[in-house]
Amino acid sequence: MIEDIQNDMPDIQADICIIGAGAAGITVARALQKSGMDIVLLESGGTDYESDTQDLAKGEISGLEYYDLRESRLRFFGGTTAIWGGRSAALDAIDFEKRDWVAHSGWPFAKDVLRPYYRRAQELLGLTQIEDNQLPDYQSPFDEAQISAAFWQFDEIFDRFTQKRCGDLIGAQNIRIFTHAHVMRLNTSENGSRVETIDIGNLKAVRATLRAQVFVMATGGIEASRLLLASKNPAHPHGIGNNTDQVGRYFMEHPHARAAQIMSGDPKRLFKLCPRFLRRKGQRYGLLFRPSDQLQRQAKILNTGFTLAVRRHAGEKQALYTNLYNTMRHELSPTAAGRSLWKMTRRMTVYMQDRFGAQMNATKLRQKNYGIYAIMRAEQAPNPNSRITLSDKQDELGMPLPRLDWRLSEIDKHSVSQSMKALDHEIRRLNLGHVDPAQWLSGDELWEFDPLASNHAIGGYHHMGGARMSADAKTGVVDGNCRVHGVENLYVASSAVFPTSGWANPTLTILALALRLGDHLQSSSRKF
Ligand SMILES: Cc1cc2nc3c(=O)[nH]c(=O)nc-3n(C[C@H](O)[C@H](O)[C@H](O)COP(=O)(O)OP(=O)(O)OC[C@H]3O[C@@H](n4cnc5c(N)ncnc54)[C@H](O)[C@@H]3O)c2cc1C
Repeated sequence: MIEDIQNDMPDIQADICIIGAGAAGITVARALQKSGMDIVLLESGGTDYESDTQDLAKGEISGLEYYDLRESRLRFFGGTTAIWGGRSAALDAIDFEKRDWVAHSGWPFAKDVLRPYYRRAQELLGLTQIEDNQLPDYQSPFDEAQISAAFWQFDEIFDRFTQKRCGDLIGAQNIRIFTHAHVMRLNTSENGSRVETIDIGNLKAVRATLRAQVFVMATGGIEASRLLLASKNPAHPHGIGNNTDQVGRYFMEHPHARAAQIMSGDPKRLFKLCPRFLRRKGQRYGLLFRPSDQLQRQAKILNTGFTLAVRRHAGEKQALYTNLYNTMRHELSPTAAGRSLWKMTRRMTVYMQDRFGAQMNATKLRQKNYGIYAIMRAEQAPNPNSRITLSDKQDELGMPLPRLDWRLSEIDKHSVSQSMKALDHEIRRLNLGHVDPAQWLSGDELWEFDPLASNHAIGGYHHMGGARMSADAKTGVVDGNCRVHGVENLYVASSAVFPTSGWANPTLTILALALRLGDHLQSSSRKF
């Protein structure tokens, strides 16, 4: 059942209340569909984009340049995946390790714990069940001790989590979904050990309280910190789960950059050996490279990813088609109609890349304003000063806005430099030319964004950290089961819990963690 609470909210109780109907919240709800438990799923928005509700996603930026927060996540049933790129990959095993050269690294468990959930998550997105992002029949030209190859897959069904594709959930006997149900505050017991109720409101002045045995916050990366911080009370004077001042810290993105130009006299051979995209049995794969685990350990660098692509030189004018694509992508309101138009544009781009990618590259490279570049989609190291706090300003419902102070560290740039050195070594060894590192790598700046390097010039809109997972309450916000330290019935389903980010886009891991959380909630339901 789905009910819009534009005018009224019934007084309800539930076994489990999931806050936020994005990919994470929907996946937890689906995992509990056959549990027999009484589930309530609350969504701040309606079933499609509405400008005034979207305003609730506003926020302030105080650190590095970043996208407008209002535009970088969506507020309606299905959440931000309604406009995502579908690029999917699992984290590597090394991403879960405590790396002694990466401060604050290490998950409370190894990748093996997530493997079965990655398989389920791949199935959920209609992807091929590949292990460790490898395509068995692709042979990388690079020395595996230096540079490793990996692949993204793409979920081609962009609107997989929107209302029209969630009939199973909407029809489920044990699940009640409420839209325009914006959670403004979590209220704990007097000693702070349990969340007892939550306050709900919306722009039509409806106010309600909901009581449940268990609460799951699936509100997206930044909103998890915001809601915890905004819910302070005498037992949690700095916000829920924040007794050790960890909430909001370690915010991470995958910063993008132009890292080097590949000076090759034989681009045809280069792209034959390193094609940007491949098709296998109808599934599209995108190739990327990263420093091998061995190189990471030797050079003490991050698991930073990069692709080889033909791009305009820095400082040139953007190509007309790219401008058009970006306008469709970023300027159109993401209503159902706007999203359809963008999807058509994207499908056409993919078709052109599949059919004519090689010819298009060759034509571009005959012009003097194009070159071959290494484009970073880097791992950033966890940095406690990269953080989400609350602003003094409030949204329409009186909730403090989030303030994002995104910061990078020396090792982020160092990892790019070292990766480019390894690439240069390999390109020379293969007689493919050489690599000219970008100037910013030898300058004082920690990072340089380049609007021509990628359609998403700053980062991937990946909001990770803020409620990081840790075995010890002193160094994180949630435990290995995604439960907020010190609060027995509050969980977080989101990339907010990632202790480190790897290079992989986050959503496949968000889904794997959500499925694991679903299993955990079922197996521990008797204790609640
Ligand atoms: C342009 C773009 C491209 C992207 N491409 C990729 C990609 O290719 N691959 C990839 O892995 N990731 C990509 N991402 C990121 C991806 O969209 C997110 O990782 C994913 O959507 C996160 O899912 P979520 O459910 O955790 O959060 P969200 O999708 O943000 O969903 C959170 C939901 O909670 C609701 N909510 C928030 N606060 C409250 C509240 N207080 N009360 C009630 N409800 C609330 C919101 O309305 C929303 O519906 C992209 C993002 C963007 C913007």
